[in-house]
This record gives sequence, structure tokens and C-alpha cells, in this order.
Amino acid sequence: MFQSVLVSVIGALLGGLLTFGSVQAAALDVVATSSGMGALARTVGAGRAQVTVLASPDRDLHRLQAKPMMIRALRDADLVVAVGAELEVGWLPVAIASAANPRILPGQPGYFEAAAQVDLLEAGSPADRALGDVHPVGNPHVNMDPVRMASVASALGERMALLDPAGAETYRANARAFAAATEQRMDDWQARLADAPGVVLYHRDALYLLDRFGVPMLGTIEEIPGVPPTAQQIKGLSERLQGRSGVVVYAPYASAQAPERLAKGLGWNARRLALDPPMDADGNGYLDHIDLWVQTLAPPR
Ligand SMILES: [Zn+2]
Repeated sequence: MFQSVLVSVIGALLGGLLTFGSVQAAALDVVATSSGMGALARTVGAGRAQVTVLASPDRDLHRLQAKPMMIRALRDADLVVAVGAELEVGWLPVAIASAANPRILPGQPGYFEAAAQVDLLEAGSPADRALGDVHPVGNPHVNMDPVRMASVASALGERMALLDPAGAETYRANARAFAAATEQRMDDWQARLADAPGVVLYHRDALYLLDRFGVPMLGTIEEIPGVPPTAQQIKGLSERLQGRSGVVVYAPYASAQAPERLAKGLGWNARRLALDPPMDADGNGYLDHIDLWVQTLAPPR
């Protein structure tokens, strides 16, 4: 009797240890720059990857600074998942260099950029960083297009398979499931956005979403990406849009003043809406966040 109790206690302890061990030792230690990239990494890496996100959705990825917390996270990472196209150029290269982890240097299998996996909008357009343009190689905000994100998921699955061959089938199946979940929502999104009146963005950050669903882009608060608008520019925009309907959308870190004033003058709504989903989002959380954007851009019913 005592023996069998002892055996089952030891068995439970061992079971506990084994469970503990498998939770602790993920096959891949992934660091994502944004919560959108984190959501994708969580979905594709489900069951094998542990994901750390560096920047919350209320932070501007164009203007972050490298922090000790980031460098610590990067030190042991197997894989960095960035948006890319120079969006994180002001802080990620510095953080990676400081982390002294050769596996995640650009060009290594442990460094992955979403923007490098898909075609970019506004690539090759005139841009001059000297004038403050923060999109010198094309528009980096590919995470706003769920269809491109499904392609990115597939490429990310292959990259994870390369780094962790034992999980290859899991990563590929996860990426396929994400693509299917995206596909399942497309008809509904297309229908809801068919008559969308259009939008004024603060920054050209939701361009990929507008382009995917044919939503008119009526203007931007900032004329050059990354350069604050002048009062004259806002006045010109307001005059040009009189009599039209639409919505103004701006990010949590953008100044509310110009968007709110413009919307008020036009009789429109102004919405503060993050580009990226909540910090702990997975693939469904990402798609739910896109749904929130669809709801914001759709015509009022
Ligand atoms: Zn940008």
C-alpha cells in the first residue's frame, strides 16, 4: 500500500518535472520586434516556440531606442522576427550588435524580416531621408495586409523548420492553418469595405490594408512620412476634402491635435487605433485586430 502510494507520488513528481521541463525549454527562443510580428511567430511556432515581443503597440517602431531589456532578450534568441524595410533601423541593429549573439545577425538564418518576403508598396518612389522621410526603401508596414501576412507566415514556417528541423511539419501545418483562417475572413471583410468612403491617415501606415480592399486613401496628416505637418498643410487638406465623407485614423503615439481638428472641421469621426494587436495576441488576435480596422473603415450602418 505504502509502496504503491510512494510510486504514484514519485510518478506525479516526475510527470510534473517533465511538464515543467517541456514548458521551460522551448525548441525555439523567438524575439519579435512588434506585437503583430509576435502574433505571427506565436501562431507559426505554436507548440514549440517561446516568443518575446520588444515593443508594445502604443510605441512608435520608427522612433524606439535600444533598451537593456531588448538586449537581454536578444542575447539568447534563436530567431529575430522584424517587420524590416528599415522600419526598425534606428534601434534594432544597435540592440542586436549589443547582444553579441552571432546567430541573429542580419544575413544569418536567425534574422528574419517580413518585408523581405513580399512585394512592397511605394518601393522605388522618391524618398529622401535627409528631408526626414522614414520610408526610404518602400513602405515597410506590410503587417497591415493579412494576405501578405499569410505569405510571411509560410516563409517564417520554413525559417523555423530550418532552425528546428524536428518541428518542421508542425511549423508548416501552423502556417497553413493561419492562411486558411485568413482566407475564411476575406469575403466578409471585402463585403464590409466595398462602399467604404475613405480615410485620412496620420502616417502612411495602413496603406497595405487600404490597397488590399480598395479603400480610398483621401490624404495623410503628415505630407512626408515621419515629418510633422504644418498648419498650412492641414488647412489645404481640409479645403480639399470639404463635402466628402470619411474617417481620420491616427496611431496611439501620434499627436491627436491635427487629426481631431481636421475631423471636426469636416464633420467626420477621428479614431485613435493601434497598428498592431495586443501584446499577447496570437494569429487569431491579429485577425481580430484587422477586423477592428475593418469596422473603423467600413461605412456607418
Ligand atoms: Zn512608417
